[in-house]
Amino acid sequence: MSRVAYVAGQYLPHRQAAVHIEDRGYQFGDGVYEVIAVTGGHLVDEGRHLARLHRSLTELRINQPMSDSALKIVIREVVRRNGVDTGIVYLQVTRGVAPRDHAFPKAAKPVLVVTSRRSRPPDPRLGREGIAVITIPDIRWQRCDIKSIALVAAVLGKQQAREASAYEAWQVDREGQVTEGTSTNAWIVTADNTVVTRATDHAILNGVTRAAILDIIHREGYRLDERPFTVAEAKAAPEAFLTSTTADLLPIVRIDGAPVADGKPGPLSRKLRDAYFRHAAAAA
Ligand code: PMP
Repeated sequence: MSRVAYVAGQYLPHRQAAVHIEDRGYQFGDGVYEVIAVTGGHLVDEGRHLARLHRSLTELRINQPMSDSALKIVIREVVRRNGVDTGIVYLQVTRGVAPRDHAFPKAAKPVLVVTSRRSRPPDPRLGREGIAVITIPDIRWQRCDIKSIALVAAVLGKQQAREASAYEAWQVDREGQVTEGTSTNAWIVTADNTVVTRATDHAILNGVTRAAILDIIHREGYRLDERPFTVAEAKAAPEAFLTSTTADLLPIVRIDGAPVADGKPGPLSRKLRDAYFRHAAAAA
């Protein structure tokens, strides 16, 4: 089946799909995006992703490209035309095409792109055996709550992780506290079995997977503390893990080369991972 992309009102063969060179996303990174998982043919937590898309657009004062009901139809059509049963949908909205000038153009129309591909889940070995993270300074801007397409700091951080044979880089703020991974939220479990993750503020993205895990934690009655933690606390913690739409929940077994506890995925991480898979299989 050949791939199809939705670009500014048209379904096009993926190879020919393109935006204009004066699209403000291309020139300024002036746009936002979402990645939604497709599991067994359904969209996981679509409502939360669309709510976050609205919020990102509102914060950047970009108009909604279309109503939610129309957007849901386009998303389903792209998934269908690409024959995706398990994979992802990528949505991007930029401020539109206009002669290059930093301030908002008077008459640009937001440009919506929707693509979909088969790509999930990650290698199950990563879930069974756990992954490594490194820590790096957080060099990003002060509105990481907006899901902006301007991702060059994340690109550099992820590349640094790759070169260190790690899955992810945890970014650390000026106070020495972990903010989040380059494309994942960061979690630890303390010695008294409390799950700890940074509260959502402007320093991190309000992850949809994070929200689903919080629901599970509340439902199952696990202890939770939404607060920042340092790299030293994480290195001494019995468990650590990360979450995202594309990674699901992955246990972390090494931080900066040092093993977390005995270097094996922790029991609570494993339980939360299993519960998340049940949620993803069921949630529309
Ligand atoms: N933080 C950052 C910086 C991200 O890019 C992502 C992935 N988009 C996440 C966290 C995880 O968010 P989600 O669970 O919604 O995929």
